[in-house]
Amino acid sequence: MPTTLTVRGLVIRETPVHDADKLFDLFTENGILTVQAKSVRKSGSKYGAVTQLFSYGEFCLRESSGRFYLDSAVSLNLFYGIRNDLNALALASYFSELIRKTATDQPQPQLLRLYLLSLHHLSEHDRPLPLVKAVFELRLMTELGLMPNLVCCPVCMTYLPVHPVLRIAEADLVCRDCRSEISELDFDTKQSVLLAARQAVYADYERLFQFKLKGESETQFADYAEKYLLHRLGLSLPTLHFYHELTDPAS
Ligand SMILES: [Zn+2]
Repeated sequence: MPTTLTVRGLVIRETPVHDADKLFDLFTENGILTVQAKSVRKSGSKYGAVTQLFSYGEFCLRESSGRFYLDSAVSLNLFYGIRNDLNALALASYFSELIRKTATDQPQPQLLRLYLLSLHHLSEHDRPLPLVKAVFELRLMTELGLMPNLVCCPVCMTYLPVHPVLRIAEADLVCRDCRSEISELDFDTKQSVLLAARQAVYADYERLFQFKLKGESETQFADYAEKYLLHRLGLSLPTLHFYHELTDPAS
C-alpha cells in the first residue's frame, strides 16, 4: 500500500533516466531521499524547474516498496543567481558532494539550514566566494561534531592571544609563545582570522556570515578552513579540485 508524504528539501543531484524521467537526490531535514520523477525532462513540464539541481521546494512524494516517486511539488527558491555564475555553481556542487558524503539518515536540520544559507549568499553575490566556502566548511565540522576547540589557549588560558596559532592536527588554538612543538599544519595567524574562525564554528545562524576579512587574512582563513576539513574528513573530493581549477588555474 503506497503512502504519501510532504517534505521540504533541496535537490542536490539529478540523473536522467529513460526518455524523459529523472532520479534526483533530495536533501531534507531527515537525510537524503532518492526520488523518481516521471516526464519532468519534457519541455514544458510542470515540475521541470523545481526538480533541477539546487532547487529548494516542497515535494509531495509517494512511497512504495521503499522507493519514492514525485506526485507534485512547489518551488520555494530556485537560487537563480547561482545558475549564471560558473564559480558559484562549482562551489555549490562541492557543498553537495560534502553533504552526500557526510549526511546520515538521522535528523540533521542544521545541515540543511547551513546549505540553504550558503546558497543564498552564493546566489545574491553579497559575500566573497572564499568566505562562503570557509564558513560552510568550518560550520559543517561543527554540525558533524568535528569542530576545533577555539575557546582559549590550553596552556595559559588566554582568550585572545596577540599571536594566535591555529593547529590543525591538535584541532585547537595556542599562543605562539606557549607552543612547545612546531608543525607544518600550524597556522601562525592574526587575531582577525581567529575571530572569523570562532564565528564560523560557534555563532548563531543569524550572525554566521556577518563579518568581513580582507586580503591576506581572507586567504589565510580560507586556507585554514579547507585544510582543517580535509584533515578531519580524509576525503578525496573531485568537486573541490574542479573549483580550484576554475578559480586559481595557476595552482
Ligand atoms: Zn598561551
